[in-house]
Amino acid sequence: MQIDGHTKLCGLIGNPVAHTLSPLIHNTLAELTGISLVYGSFLVDQGKLAEAVPGAFALHIHGMNVTVPYKSDVIPLLSEIDELAEKIGAVNTLVRTEDGFKGYNTDMPGLYRAMCSDGMEIANREVLILGAGGAARAVAFLCASKGASHVYFLNRTVSKAQAIVQEIAEKTGYTQMTAMELSGYQTLPGKNYLVIQSTSVGLAPHAHEAVIEDPAFYEKISKGYDLVYRPADTRFMQLVREHGGEAYNGLKMLLYQGIISFELWNQVEITEEQAAIVYEKLKEACYGKE
Ligand code: NAP
Repeated sequence: MQIDGHTKLCGLIGNPVAHTLSPLIHNTLAELTGISLVYGSFLVDQGKLAEAVPGAFALHIHGMNVTVPYKSDVIPLLSEIDELAEKIGAVNTLVRTEDGFKGYNTDMPGLYRAMCSDGMEIANREVLILGAGGAARAVAFLCASKGASHVYFLNRTVSKAQAIVQEIAEKTGYTQMTAMELSGYQTLPGKNYLVIQSTSVGLAPHAHEAVIEDPAFYEKISKGYDLVYRPADTRFMQLVREHGGEAYNGLKMLLYQGIISFELWNQVEITEEQAAIVYEKLKEACYGKE
């Protein structure tokens, strides 16, 4: 790709950013689509976000991703916010407009595209969400918007799950959601739950841990989706499979949130063939050659 005065500049803002796989996603997509675009990462020091965002706009940065800890803090700095991102209360993608950046959330649609590509349905299913942090919030909105028959929201700090349940009911009218302590699964009668593991437990270097170890829990699960993708095969996934369920990690969610950002910045549609090429590169970068 030729880099010249017309090349669009994009990047990730967050703290830390050195571990990011986003440059690999976007620079590969630029190569595959022939769009002259370069993507890098920008470390934004604590307290500097209010300078960084207008500064990026002044420099004609074409688009940005936003990561921890700025996904909510960035909202007051935007000229506009997409309806979905506003509901979720978190923005991970900034799209340049005439007046400033417009904020979107591509984590939630990214997870949905990832789940569809793995043949996982949310509609009319009973879903268990583990965790009630930033990622779990987006998952809860996804389950509400895609018509899960019931959502059980299990978190160590149950008050955080309760707050999200209440907020979702107010913002979307979806009321089939119950907040519980982590041990709340013991009272659930079903055997066919879809579980979306949205806690940070199991993340390398604590790869030997799962947020729930009890075999009785895993006997109730038919499908398990772990948002964690390092390691490739988390302890949660292993336990799901040991009890006869199917298990997936969060690398495809990462892939598709990036793809949707790229599509928003460039008004293109990434094909499944192109997505598969980027996915192979991501796997190699994350886990090494197979
Ligand atoms: P977060 O806001 O910090 O929330 C962390 C959650 O994990 C909280 O619910 C917390 O419970 C729970 N937790 C942490 N340690 C625990 C422990 N020892 N026992 C029980 N629960 C514990 O993090 P986040 O941004 O939501 O991210 C969560 C995970 O999703 C991370 O591993 C992240 O890497 C992953 N993620 C993946 C993608 C992707 O693209 N695949 C995107 C976003 C996030 P309390 O509320 O009780 O503290």
